Amino acid sequence: MNDTAAPVVLKGFSASEGIARGPVHRIDRDVPEVPRVTVPPEGGARELERFRRARARARQELEGIKRQTAARLGPIEARIFDPQILMLDDPEVVEGTRRYISENRLTAARAFDWRMLELKDRWSRTSHPMVLDRLNDLDDLKVRILGRLLGLPDPWGIGDGEHEIVAVAKDLTPSFVALLDPSRVVALATDRGTRTSHWAILARSLEVPAAAGLGDVTDRTADGQAIIVDGWSGRVVIGPDAGEEERFERRRAAIRGWGHETPAMAREEAVTLDRQAITLRVNLDLPGEAARARALGARGVGLFRTEFLVVGRSTVPEEEEQYRAYREVAEAFPSHPVLIRTFDLGGDKFPVFLRTPAEDNPFLGRRGVRVCPDEPELFLIQLRAMLRAAVHGDLRIMVPLVNTGTEIETVRELLAMAQDHLESEDLPFERSIEVGAMIETPAAALAAPGLATHADFLSIGTNDLVQYTLAVDRTNTRLAHLFDPFHPAVLRQISLVAEAGRAAGVEVSACGEMATRPLGVLLLLGLGVDVLSVAWRSLPGIGRMVRNCRLDEIRAAAAAALEAPTGAEAKRHFAASLQPTLERSFPRGT
Ligand code: PEP
Ligand code: MG
Repeated sequence: MNDTAAPVVLKGFSASEGIARGPVHRIDRDVPEVPRVTVPPEGGARELERFRRARARARQELEGIKRQTAARLGPIEARIFDPQILMLDDPEVVEGTRRYISENRLTAARAFDWRMLELKDRWSRTSHPMVLDRLNDLDDLKVRILGRLLGLPDPWGIGDGEHEIVAVAKDLTPSFVALLDPSRVVALATDRGTRTSHWAILARSLEVPAAAGLGDVTDRTADGQAIIVDGWSGRVVIGPDAGEEERFERRRAAIRGWGHETPAMAREEAVTLDRQAITLRVNLDLPGEAARARALGARGVGLFRTEFLVVGRSTVPEEEEQYRAYREVAEAFPSHPVLIRTFDLGGDKFPVFLRTPAEDNPFLGRRGVRVCPDEPELFLIQLRAMLRAAVHGDLRIMVPLVNTGTEIETVRELLAMAQDHLESEDLPFERSIEVGAMIETPAAALAAPGLATHADFLSIGTNDLVQYTLAVDRTNTRLAHLFDPFHPAVLRQISLVAEAGRAAGVEVSACGEMATRPLGVLLLLGLGVDVLSVAWRSLPGIGRMVRNCRLDEIRAAAAAALEAPTGAEAKRHFAASLQPTLERSFPRGT
């Protein structure tokens, strides 16, 4: 506890739900300094041999990490490490380094360092600027091999101590998170990264609380200093004072309380006090989460993101692997819908194998469904896998970033083609499958009545809808105060989409962060969206809230919010009028 200096509070993104406190353990993964020494002519062979051994050792380590990840999280999750393993034999890496050793008489470490710098420079220029996952792999491999060649300790090592720690780093890697022991590393906090970073996805799967995108948490912390990480809100407190400690204990007790009620709550239907049934589904990032989400009481999957199959991979994922992943999720929900989203590539998620040219505005560029016509092969394989998996459950196809009915029709054409192929190959597949549109842009929201004539269902992606409506980058923490789901323009669009769905007899659901935050959930319900897809760990809390509210009261509060001139006023009045509901639902705080 720190009663003298004021605590430092930083706000980033919720990367993995949960709350924990502990002493800071900083992880410094800076690329090591490589000494400038040249090798006498007779030393070349020895350096070549040292390079070979360092690669062999790195391969052994990575294969070991992959095996452990497969045992812990599943074989599909473990494939995150394939690109790094492949890089170890990439001729660009190996031959380039060997040439520097032989021709320039460099040490193995220096030759490898040079070659990796060259490749990083080239990849950052010629690949899509958002190929961060690949560059992160490259850095990770570089540090791993240089560490071997220079005899340095493992930069990710956290020692064998017994006490709990909070790992604080500029950014993390999947290999660090995949191997960590959650009873030792109780939370993670990083300067960079977002909720969709691969390491964050793994942290959620391991249920390790994490806050990402904190800007300068590494500069503001010292080893051993107390830190609280609230992975539900993305808030961290460095050097908490008595007030912050008390707030932490209260919140932790509240969250533990929800956990104890979970098994009983999972069986209860989400029905409001005025007997209105609400459907609560979950958002999933990895197939292994499906069974756990079901145990928490999910009534289906409202968004299964499939990017884990492509981002960070160096090859197109095979149909069989995709089929198994989709089938696992469909089978976890035998009597509920499972909405699987087609690859939402572009923006911050572009797989290396597409080798797309750089774009000045990636978030306004080739993203979501727009990639489809250019990469029919990639999507055909995915649609085939979905059609085959649909035999095992109520699987539906959801298309991201749709603006026009034509885009839905393009997907339907590819779907018909995939069905023809499967038919001629005599493989079992579903002949009738629903295709829905995500409403993520103002264009889609305002044109929802027209889109509803093309789509079998609509799902509001609130993260992107808010981003594109307000022109506020959702990944920029410095603009977080402007990212306002209560803005009148957002409220009106949500209301309009709900109305369009009702008029056309088409289901309207919502996924995205707003459908996970208590006030956001109430607002969506009040605006007429009664199918919600929430982050799976938040399901018990949201379920409890639904059972403690009255839909007629929420509707009245939302109608007033729709009339408010600003987001701030809408939020203030909405929160004030529903305070009793929030207190009933979360007696010890949200
Ligand atoms: C959204 O935009 O709200 C959404 C759910 O999709 P993603 O966060 O994957 O862009
Ligand atoms: Mg989106």
